Amino acid sequence: MDCLFCRIIRKEIPSKIVFENEKVLAFRDIDPKAPVHILVVPKKHISGLDSSTADDARLLGEMLVAAKDIAKKEKLDESGYRVVINNGKDAGQAVAHIHYHLLGGRKFQWPPG
Ligand code: 5GP
Ligand code: ZN
Repeated sequence: MDCLFCRIIRKEIPSKIVFENEKVLAFRDIDPKAPVHILVVPKKHISGLDSSTADDARLLGEMLVAAKDIAKKEKLDESGYRVVINNGKDAGQAVAHIHYHLLGGRKFQWPPG
């Protein structure tokens, strides 16, 4: 698949990997919006949340558990952190391979801008 995150998953493009198993990869965002900004992606190409199906439910749940474990490893569990999915144009999704943003290390606004 000629997709930026598929290329990162295949290690054709280098990234700072923080977690990997057979189904999920997590790496640091190249343009961090917080002191900790990690992207959690499935190795399977799904172009966005909108393209996911009930068959992906387990995978999406495993990504969420991975995000939680990474947050703990990054020592964010006590201060708190945010997990975000941008889907589509109005949300500002720039890469068409589903990803959770794990953000932490500073205080966030609510509602988001
Ligand atoms: P989106 O806007 O689609 O929700 O998020 C895409 C994210 O991917 C952005 O936060 C952006 O900084 C990050 N990103 C874009 N290209 C690269 C890259 O080549 N490497 C890494 N590590 N992150 C990237
Ligand atoms: Zn992809």
